[in-house]
Amino acid sequence: MSVPSTQLETVGAAPAALYQYNDLRIIHLELTHRCNAACPMCARNIHGGAVNPDMPLAELSLADIRQILLPDFIARLKRIYACGNYGDPIVARDCLEVFRYLREHGPGLHLDLHTNGSARRPDWWRQLAAIMQQGPHYLRFGIDGLADTNHLYRRGTDWKTIMRAAEAFIAAGGRAEWDFLVFKHNEHQVEEARRLAREMGFAEFFVRKTGRFLTSGEFETSDRFEVLDKAGQFEYWLEQPADPGYRNPEYSNLEELKTQFGSHQNYLDRVPIDCKVAGSKGKIYLSAQGLVLPCCWLGAVFSEASTPERQQFAQLIESHGGRNVLDARRHGLAAVIESALFQQAIPGSWDQDSIAAGKLAICARTCGRDYDPLEHQRD
Ligand code: SF4
Ligand code: SF4
Repeated sequence: MSVPSTQLETVGAAPAALYQYNDLRIIHLELTHRCNAACPMCARNIHGGAVNPDMPLAELSLADIRQILLPDFIARLKRIYACGNYGDPIVARDCLEVFRYLREHGPGLHLDLHTNGSARRPDWWRQLAAIMQQGPHYLRFGIDGLADTNHLYRRGTDWKTIMRAAEAFIAAGGRAEWDFLVFKHNEHQVEEARRLAREMGFAEFFVRKTGRFLTSGEFETSDRFEVLDKAGQFEYWLEQPADPGYRNPEYSNLEELKTQFGSHQNYLDRVPIDCKVAGSKGKIYLSAQGLVLPCCWLGAVFSEASTPERQQFAQLIESHGGRNVLDARRHGLAAVIESALFQQAIPGSWDQDSIAAGKLAICARTCGRDYDPLEHQRD
């Protein structure tokens, strides 16, 4: 049952522990849950095979964006970047029109987009470049290898389409960047890809070291990750790079953490939380369902509520009026941000003595001070 915004539980003038609406500066925008690819470590599918059955197929239209992100609000933001948990923004039907709208009202806005690059015709990319280049921006292509290897992680993508997209975007004046996720099957190609990026006119080339070889719920990594087909049958392994310099440096701290905390559960219970979005960072996540959450890590709650840590957060939401409290189309951004869930319940959980006592496990895992593979993905 819906809750009108006037009935939202709010904290009035109480001091904000997460942030206030007026502090917002950065929006992580998830335009769609659709994607043309099936990367094995992405939550939108099961190990690169069947589509995640718990994922709602949602998308924000231009009309939704106009309703949620009003012109005067856009004008005071520093950055909007289109990325997301489950989809690739270039697949969204209104992607180009949304970027045109954001640029129109945010001429000084840093307008960024992350993509696998394997869709749309060159003319579409030229139009995107024309819009983005009117202000600060980057477009980051996730290209994990060369013609013979990229598809082993970016399953379903087409090398020629990606190359044509990058060429068209760069030739039209866009600033393109290249993210290269390193595995055993492509580690020998890093320098060749770096050279190709330079020749093509990419402005940056980043080597990325995934933190996703961590065994769930343990302080241990696995050397390999199973890739499945749509029927759930084994196809091949994704393996960690042999060169330790390409492995996530946080993995080398795991033994010490085991000694210090004994178990991953103890770590979650005891580690202090250093939120990546609170306070002056002023960052929110707007999901393809039109829900506003502090970050994309908490934003995955509605499609994978079966894990204990997601169930824990889902229960917290339920006890504060249910998911529709987070619905920006229904209530507007300000009402969601000023709700008790944002201002009290989420940050208030961080000081609890343990996960059992209410400390959010997603927050402890993602933003626990002593283990942060995300921060160390890049050189
Ligand atoms: S391109 Fe992005 S959204 Fe699509 S499957 Fe890969 S990681 Fe997921
Ligand atoms: S997971 Fe929790 S602590 Fe981390 S950024 Fe999100 S809200 Fe902040």
